[in-house]
Amino acid sequence: MQWPELECPNCTAPLADIQDETAVHCRFCGVTLNLYRSLCPSCGFLDRVERPLCSRCGTNIVRACPACRQIDWAGMESCTNCGGPLDMLEIMFKSRIRDTRERLQLQQSEALVIKAHEAAQAEARLERFRKVERDRLSELAQHTVEKKKLERRVLGGILLGSALFAVVMVVIAVLWAWMGQ
Ligand SMILES: [Zn+2]
Ligand SMILES: [Zn+2]
Ligand SMILES: [Zn+2]
Repeated sequence: MQWPELECPNCTAPLADIQDETAVHCRFCGVTLNLYRSLCPSCGFLDRVERPLCSRCGTNIVRACPACRQIDWAGMESCTNCGGPLDMLEIMFKSRIRDTRERLQLQQSEALVIKAHEAAQAEARLERFRKVERDRLSELAQHTVEKKKLERRVLGGILLGSALFAVVMVVIAVLWAWMGQ
């Protein structure tokens, strides 16, 4: 393991005494730091205290092995417990977008995607409402047409009935006149 040039987070002196790849001792202020729990594998920032995330760039400092859940330093290439490989891609990707401006852009584009998704959902909801309204209107129109048809049929029936009645009355009148002669 090649450690980057480290600076004591306590007194900012350069740290040369890396003891056993897990701890470092500062000759100047006497502090001993656990590398595996406080050194950021992405930006190389050594923290005064052990943290799950780097306080400078936000990268994970420790993480769990996906196979055995052993908690290891995030810069490890393989698990110290089961020897399984630990994915380095995540860290490489994170260090590539370390630049805050780039990260901000990524967040903004994510926000845009979310906004577009929400707009699409709202549009779909509106479209559903429109369809319900259209269906209601066409049903109403259909209903009106049928009602008019029925009215016409009833009116036609009445007219026909009246005409027949008039014809019958005329026939009766004619018969009556003929018999009276
Ligand atoms: Zn120091
Ligand atoms: Zn960092
Ligand atoms: Zn493991």
